[in-house]
Amino acid sequence: MSFFHDLGLAQPILKALEAAGYDTPTPIQQQSIPPLLQGRDLCGIAQTGTGKTAAFALPSLHHFATKPKARQQYSCRMLVLSPTRELAAQIAESFRTYGKFLGLKIDCVFGGVPIFSQKKRLAGGVDILVATPGRLIDLIEQRAITLKDVEIFVLDEADQMMDLGFIHALKRIDQLLPKQRQTLFFSATMPKAIAELGNRFLNNPVRVSVAPAATTAERVEQFVTFVEQREKQTLLTLKLKSEDIDRALVFTRTKHGADRVVRGLAGAGIQAAAIHGNKSQGQRTAALQAFRDGKIKILVATDIAARGIDVPGVSHVFNFELPNVPEQYVHRIGRTARAGREGVAMSFVAGDERGYMKDIERLTGVRAMTLGLPEGFRAAVAALPPPIADKKPQQSRGGRGGGHPGGGRSNYAGKKLGGNNGGIGRNGETRQRTPTPQGGWSPAVGPRDDAQAARERMPTADRAFAARKESRRDPGAPPRNYGPKKSGPGKYRNAVKRAG
Ligand code: AMP
Repeated sequence: MSFFHDLGLAQPILKALEAAGYDTPTPIQQQSIPPLLQGRDLCGIAQTGTGKTAAFALPSLHHFATKPKARQQYSCRMLVLSPTRELAAQIAESFRTYGKFLGLKIDCVFGGVPIFSQKKRLAGGVDILVATPGRLIDLIEQRAITLKDVEIFVLDEADQMMDLGFIHALKRIDQLLPKQRQTLFFSATMPKAIAELGNRFLNNPVRVSVAPAATTAERVEQFVTFVEQREKQTLLTLKLKSEDIDRALVFTRTKHGADRVVRGLAGAGIQAAAIHGNKSQGQRTAALQAFRDGKIKILVATDIAARGIDVPGVSHVFNFELPNVPEQYVHRIGRTARAGREGVAMSFVAGDERGYMKDIERLTGVRAMTLGLPEGFRAAVAALPPPIADKKPQQSRGGRGGGHPGGGRSNYAGKKLGGNNGGIGRNGETRQRTPTPQGGWSPAVGPRDDAQAARERMPTADRAFAARKESRRDPGAPPRNYGPKKSGPGKYRNAVKRAG
């Protein structure tokens, strides 16, 4: 075992680490810091919560400590790109912690807040700039910053950056960076196509990996409960009341879904806040801060919060809905069990999500333990407003309010008013799901299964597209009415859409 003292880091950095209470480098830090101190490029794969930020921050700070230079106007010596605003702010905060005895100028810029003050701050130049790609491009276009003096370039959460459609911005930024620089590429997951894309930014990189890509955070205990979509709110309420929870993150697939869960919890006397892309930056920051400070114990989030957010003491992660991109599950559950602690992840799986669960288990190689429904659940569900009886069978379009467990109208608390368990399928057939002896539900035979089957027949690229498209659907919202099946290039997409 080595200590930070053995790595040859500058004294002010060691002092800051001591003040932060760190003495031993984590595995990713042990592997990354020596080659980075030699100026090598690096491609790092590390699980979330492994100390990735310090792995790139410490050697960079050492570089600035040992090679001081006067700041140039409208310029920076180091650029760190992050896919989300929260993560950018957090990375900048880490740099400030580890670099507090170095007198460096560290700044952070992202969208959703006025650009004017950012331009003013950059005018004198900064040493380290952490940015989200969109706002950085805006600032470059407005001549508030130039990248010509960048010596170290870091791409964090590289795969998500590409996923989120930042590839064009990245290519542009790459062209503006000096060819002579050190480049670091970090990611928790690294699908092959993204690794290949990453290669265009890297020059003979050292490759470090502390766990195979997409290995589920090892200390997270994983559970799954099979439950109807419309009953998930009840299940969540009971779990939050019965489990020993320090802080819990609840993930939904959509922004409206997150708001609905918060309202449902409020109705049950549980205070929670939502964080998602429809909230203003001020609201997002305030919610995260309240969660961090322990003022609220429950934060309901879309996948925007799945990555990078480092809030200590998250004891539970609830997947209210499963992500349909399996890698996202790894990021979500990685929000707990950070920095050596233990954590629990619970997934609520409706019949039409079983395929997603299988994909997740295939990716992680871990089988989540099945938990039955808790005591009092049936009584609580029985107390829900009764579902409105199905209308006359619609022969032509059964999707509406029918077989999809997320279908039907919902009231403000997210409780379904109709179209719950069963209904009328696309071809007019009746669908009824039945409880299994294990406390789960028989697999749904419904339109979404058709969609899944259609997805499985697709070429990989189309499948990814369809999955992304579907991820924007709100599982709790009434399904849309799609027209008859078309043939031709859009057929897969239509199959998925219609299934909604
Ligand atoms: P990261 O993976 O960079 O988000 O870091 C996860 C958490 O581990 C953060 O709260 C860090 O402050 C903490 N951390 C990072 N490196 C160390 C270390 N060497 N010793 C103790 N805690 C650390």
